[in-house]
Amino acid sequence: MKVSKAEIVISAVAEAQYPDDNLPEIVLLGRSNVGKSTFVNTLIERRSLARTSSQPGKTQTMNFYRINDLFHFVDMPGYGYAKASKTEREKWGKMIEKYLRNRENVAMIFQLIDSRHDPSEDDLLMYEWLVHYGLNPMIIGTKADKISKTNQKKSISRIAKLLNLRSSREVILFSAETKLGKEEVWEHIEKVLD
Ligand code: GDP
Repeated sequence: MKVSKAEIVISAVAEAQYPDDNLPEIVLLGRSNVGKSTFVNTLIERRSLARTSSQPGKTQTMNFYRINDLFHFVDMPGYGYAKASKTEREKWGKMIEKYLRNRENVAMIFQLIDSRHDPSEDDLLMYEWLVHYGLNPMIIGTKADKISKTNQKKSISRIAKLLNLRSSREVILFSAETKLGKEEVWEHIEKVLD
């Protein structure tokens, strides 16, 4: 998809702030620092529409980006956010859960997992929770440029095995550096928007 318009709509901290324009929402889930903002910026070819962790002041908000007036990317607060207090984490957990279970606009969910490591306990819990509610996410293995070609293959098999996926073909390796996976991700998005 050629992105001609990309704008941040809102960094929401409450349900009342979610956009009401009824556009389909493509949701990004993953641990803090896994590369969610970079994933958005890479797909839309904007260097910094989505704020990345290296920028100070990144808060735990739900960020809605409107793309081509056609759909929203929704960058969810990273789970396993080390600096957040337990109360904050619980509050965010509830908000994410409520959004995912009730929001009718959700068209697709990408769960991002760092391809260099085994899925964390949080990754596994999130994945199982999603599947339990019939919200089957597409799995993205991020930062693929940081591992060798041989290890890339091993990495997706390992992720697939630990998540009990039918095949490692269900994991899309992605890299903001080499753009690996970018076209494949767009194909999936275009299919659900069709
Ligand atoms: P978020 O917290 O999930 O939104 O993660 P960010 O998008 O802010 O990324 C966290 C850090 O990982 C940043 O320093 C990014 O530059 C880096 N990063 C993200 N994606 C990639 C990638 O594909 N390759 C490499 N080498 N670094 C990446």
